[in-house]
Amino acid sequence: MGALSSLVPIGPQTNLVGLIGDPVDHSRSPVMHNAAFRALKMPWVYLAFPVRGDRVGDAVAGLRALGLAGVNVTIPHKESVLPLLDTISPRARTCGAVNTIVLRRGRLRGENTDVLGLERDWGDLDVAPRLAKAVVLGAGGSARAAVVALAKRSRTVLVAARRVEQAEALVGDLRSAVRARLEAVALARLAPAAPEAVDRLAGAGLIVNATPVGMRGEPFLPFAFAAAPPDCFFYDLIYTSRRTPFLEAAAHVGHRGANGEGMLLHQGAAAFELWTGVEPPLDVMRRALRRTL
Ligand code: NAP
Repeated sequence: MGALSSLVPIGPQTNLVGLIGDPVDHSRSPVMHNAAFRALKMPWVYLAFPVRGDRVGDAVAGLRALGLAGVNVTIPHKESVLPLLDTISPRARTCGAVNTIVLRRGRLRGENTDVLGLERDWGDLDVAPRLAKAVVLGAGGSARAAVVALAKRSRTVLVAARRVEQAEALVGDLRSAVRARLEAVALARLAPAAPEAVDRLAGAGLIVNATPVGMRGEPFLPFAFAAAPPDCFFYDLIYTSRRTPFLEAAAHVGHRGANGEGMLLHQGAAAFELWTGVEPPLDVMRRALRRTL
């Protein structure tokens, strides 16, 4: 409540945005967005709404009824909201996932700002704009956004999942929507002991962890970090610590890397702009996020 009390006073003109998901109590988005609203003295508030899977239809109908400006969408609703919306952006359609809903003139539009978030952060980090090969570990919702972002800068994107059929399904869904060559492989084939790991990782310029492994500090999975080329960059979508177990293991054999804080910042900033039409104060949002990490 401390953060809310210093917002522009709440009144009938206050605009409400927020987050729907389950759980949402770990989310850094309220802190980041409310800091931006405060800095720009905007009469806006961002709240986190825990919404169970079986109530997502009610929640989306509620947005429309109450006239919220929009919401972010997180696990487990990123896919299930699609049929509840009036229009879906091409990027969200390609990803098969919506992370931002915008309500304008009574119509709900689904957007995906995760792809933009990744692209902008890789721009900030100076990750090579053209890659012979990129690798994504995991094949869930954010892996799809990572593949879409990577496919624009890579000739080949290799998707590795513990259940190879999940990687194959992702590749099958996205193959016709992107220009890069997409390949699926079982994660076990990229383990240090796997004979083909060296060949599979040859030429990789960027390896992205899109699994939640390491989020609670647990060790990363068996992965042939040393088989990646020396200039390969490692990117972890996890942002709960600066040196995640994935980044730690990569650094141990001399690789550079970064966590997903910049993606979180940029996907949020893009949503902020979609809702408000105002340029987001990136530095304010970055500082607010850093205070929570
Ligand atoms: P998700 O849809 O649940 O997908 C997770 C993927 O990781 C699945 O392929 C899953 O395989 C795999 N996985 C889970 N546990 C594993 C294990 N022990 N070993 C091997 N594979 C495992 O989750 P998501 O939404 O893609 O999120 C993934 C991560 O990205 C989370 O840590 C999330 O916090 C982070 N994220 C960060 C941002 C950001 O802004 N930085 C944005 C979105 C997500 P199974 O299906 O077999 O379990």
